[in-house]
Amino acid sequence: MKKIYLCVFVIILIILIILAVAYTNKNQINEEDKFEIVTSFYPLYIMTLNITDGIENVSVSNMTNNNVGCLHNYTLQTSDLKTLSKADLFIMNGLGIEMFTDKIEEEYPNLEIIDTSTVQLDLIKDSEGLNGHVWNDVDNYIEQVEAILNSLCAENPENTEKYTANAENYMQKLHLLKQNSYIAKEGTTVVSCNESLAYLLNDVGLDFIEVYTDHEQSALSSENLSKVIDEVKEKNIKAIFIEKNDDRKTAEIIANETGVQIYELDANLSGELNKDAFINSMTNNYNILKDCLE
Ligand SMILES: [Zn+2]
Repeated sequence: MKKIYLCVFVIILIILIILAVAYTNKNQINEEDKFEIVTSFYPLYIMTLNITDGIENVSVSNMTNNNVGCLHNYTLQTSDLKTLSKADLFIMNGLGIEMFTDKIEEEYPNLEIIDTSTVQLDLIKDSEGLNGHVWNDVDNYIEQVEAILNSLCAENPENTEKYTANAENYMQKLHLLKQNSYIAKEGTTVVSCNESLAYLLNDVGLDFIEVYTDHEQSALSSENLSKVIDEVKEKNIKAIFIEKNDDRKTAEIIANETGVQIYELDANLSGELNKDAFINSMTNNYNILKDCLE
């Protein structure tokens, strides 16, 4: 009799397991059915992460490794092309940050490419032309989020409502960030040793002497360096800013010669991979600016 009970128990258990597996499969969206979005690098990834938050039939991946930083001088890797092979949409910053798009177009002529810089942005020109690091101005960042939202709604209309709700929620937070932004006293001048900080400094109302380094601190000639040092001595400079991943060499030479202190800011070229990362790093930037300039 005991054996019969055991048999019945085992049969019921097997049926339950089969039902559970069937239910799980039904609720799991096949990876191949997902709308696949690939972003070129970090700031675009964070924007897109917010707009697609919680939408199950959409996947977002970042083409480049998070620690790559800015894509100036970046060479497209075989693994990047492999990531793009499954993409339905490629989202990029534009303005010369991604110099490799010709190769992507050649390899995947049917891939939809979204250039987020084609909307109305406040642009800064420096000694080398248009500065492409636009996302560090919060208004520009909001415009880029809107550009991504519009292209997602156009290319994947079934999720329009969800994309729109997510974007509205994110924009509210971004407007709040802008409202609470640090604002510099008029006429405050600083030194910037990384062109990716230009939009941030400009956005908070700072005047700045820019040491153009193309993200390579060692690239500065001694002639240019002494020019900068003279300018720093002439003007009442409050601080020298470098990006968090920068080599400090050039900044230290200027600091030693002038007695002005060095501070690190975050240009959002790399960072944490969570959806609040941009808001958190900008809040931190505003706190640093406040601490060292007031
Ligand atoms: Zn750059």
